[in-house]
Amino acid sequence: MAPTRPRVALLGATGSIGTQTLDVLREERERFDLIAIAGGQRLAELAVIAKEFNVRDVGVVSARDRDEVRPLLGPDVNVVVGAEGLAELATRADIVVNAVVGFAGLPVTLSALSAGKRLALANKESLIAAAPLVNKVRLTPGASILPIDSEHCAIHQCLASSTQNGHPDVRMIHLTASGGPFRGMSKEQLGHVTKHDALQHPTWTMGPKITVDSSTLMNKGLEVLEASALFGIEVERVNVVVHPQSIVHSMVEYVDGAVLAQLSLPDMRLPIAYCLGAPVRLSHAWGQIDFGQSFSLAFEAPDREAFGALDLAYEASRLGGGAPAWLSAANEIAVEAFLNDQIEWSRIVPLVADVLEQYEADPIDTLEALFENDATARRLAHGMVPR
Ligand code: NDP
Ligand code: MG
Repeated sequence: MAPTRPRVALLGATGSIGTQTLDVLREERERFDLIAIAGGQRLAELAVIAKEFNVRDVGVVSARDRDEVRPLLGPDVNVVVGAEGLAELATRADIVVNAVVGFAGLPVTLSALSAGKRLALANKESLIAAAPLVNKVRLTPGASILPIDSEHCAIHQCLASSTQNGHPDVRMIHLTASGGPFRGMSKEQLGHVTKHDALQHPTWTMGPKITVDSSTLMNKGLEVLEASALFGIEVERVNVVVHPQSIVHSMVEYVDGAVLAQLSLPDMRLPIAYCLGAPVRLSHAWGQIDFGQSFSLAFEAPDREAFGALDLAYEASRLGGGAPAWLSAANEIAVEAFLNDQIEWSRIVPLVADVLEQYEADPIDTLEALFENDATARRLAHGMVPR
């Protein structure tokens, strides 16, 4: 009898991480069984994926979407709706890939961990917003988080040499950043960049939100918070270093001076495959480096003056409580306003800073408090967007 394959739920299946996860699953059909998918607006794409992988459960955002997608699916496919539907799908599989963008991914993170599943996490926003709650539910027997975010996946691999709780043997985590499309620009030059410019990432092809976040360096700021929450390391031990080639995906520096790094060409399918297979390494190589070709690696300090988002993230961490959630929520609204041509690129980070300035200490130890905190930050941010 063939061994049973781990069941995978892929939520956010139609996006950039979602489609790259499907590439990995196509290579590994013998190994994994994709049983559930969910998406947002791209319903036709969702139905095509459901058919190709013969999935049993499909999640959509609204009842209207359900009515629209239903005729495109086979009669045996079950359709679930909204945040509750996402939470339900996350309990059905052995491995849950959270590839939803933004705070909307929260039910997936919380539900997968509460049900004791392996969470392959791309959706950093849910972890940043809900770190105290996530830290509780990740203690559920069987639950684990494997980070898909390439830097954190690299750190996860490099931390294998650190054996102690709280990692006292780690002096510093060095998160690498490509620097985005505007690396090297002065504040003055940054005043004139366009949406087209912001959506051209030099090394990665990603969804629009994270591409804009990479252009402001807010993505790296969020990743500092993500690293701290994931690995239980205070942000003072997380350093950002610009590395334009995106080959060194991050580094861990130990107290004895040793620095461990994970290298590969920029290809998210490698961290995705790692998160699905760990502790086994799947044999298809993604992002393989050809050391027969000469190439160089460069490192430089980020320009914190021109890219204020980094310091904002450290500030949010110092404020603690719901401040990281405020930062992330305000940023979602600012990026959306930028993508809708309501604000200039140079206004994104100042808008987030203005919202963060109004943060009042608020521990977020319940889901209700978390949603209220998120809604307040969003309301304030919306109020700053010209109509
Ligand atoms: P995309 O915008 O490409 O994809 C987002 C996915 O989420 C889509 O499938 C979208 O559906 C779905 N979605 C949106 N809203 C909802 C909702 N309310 N309920 C269910 N599904 C929803 O984003 P990315 O793939 O780029 O990013 C996903 C996450 O991964 C983000 O948190 C990002 O920060 C993180 N990440 C991404 C990387 C990358 O290389 N892309 C690298 C590291 C992290 P639809 O398209 O059908 O509307
Ligand atoms: Mg990343």
